[in-house]
Amino acid sequence: MSKTSHQRRYRGSCQGKLSIVGIGPGDLSCLTQKARQTIKCSQVIVGYKTYIALLGNLTKGKEVISSGMTEEIKRAQEAIQKGKEGKNVSVISSGDPGIYGMAGLVLELLNKKDIDTLRIEVIPGVPSATACASLLGAPLANDFAVISLSDLLTDKNDIIKRLKAASQSDFVIVLYNPKSKKRIEPLKMAWRIIAKRLPLNTPVGIVKNAFRSGQEIIITTLKKAMALDNIDMTTTVIVGNSKTYLKNGYMITPRGYFKIT
Ligand code: SAH
Repeated sequence: MSKTSHQRRYRGSCQGKLSIVGIGPGDLSCLTQKARQTIKCSQVIVGYKTYIALLGNLTKGKEVISSGMTEEIKRAQEAIQKGKEGKNVSVISSGDPGIYGMAGLVLELLNKKDIDTLRIEVIPGVPSATACASLLGAPLANDFAVISLSDLLTDKNDIIKRLKAASQSDFVIVLYNPKSKKRIEPLKMAWRIIAKRLPLNTPVGIVKNAFRSGQEIIITTLKKAMALDNIDMTTTVIVGNSKTYLKNGYMITPRGYFKIT
């Protein structure tokens, strides 16, 4: 077994450690031990201000660099710079940093020299998809597709293509970034595409602010979900597949254990 690529790539003296840390859905009880330890050992914490606030006392005594949504590139560059100055830096990202998070961006920005001098670590976190699924029951117990409805960074035609493919292939569908104050159309479009291919009584789970204050859990049908207007950017939507059903208030997609052979 060869060494992992980042261990192999790291050849310079330990000038600084740059960790891209997934903090989970919100509540500190969902922070992994490794994420907590990494944040504790960091001198600098870089992140979106809402996520910094979720860390509470964990940022106490540390240099905090926080900024708003859409300032991701600036945050990543600042974090890399701090690492190059020899600091231990944590760039925090909600859920898992590799899922629509900061890990990809930071790795894309690093050049060869940075890679040789910095120690880089990506620390996984509990993603919203599974955090929200756990609050609904077990909707992801079979194959599922995760689609972000944000058309700021992804071409709208690609989103349409993926929604069509997922809904006609009987995947359970997890919708991230469903709607913002200004971005309302993509969710309407998603409902139209999905409703064309799935029965209107398909179970749909909607979780807002999972493991954060203001948590809301709704289990409903596709027809009723399409009429809801309280879906926002802190919401994840899970649309069942043709086998998903409700039992005792839980949304379940069977794995297939009770299939008659
Ligand atoms: N890296 C994150 C996703 C970031 S994209 C992860 O792994 O989960 C941001 C989207 O994630 C939001 O628009 C929303 O759809 C979802 N999300 C993030 N936190 C959430 C929470 N606490 N409850 C429900 N959905 C959440």
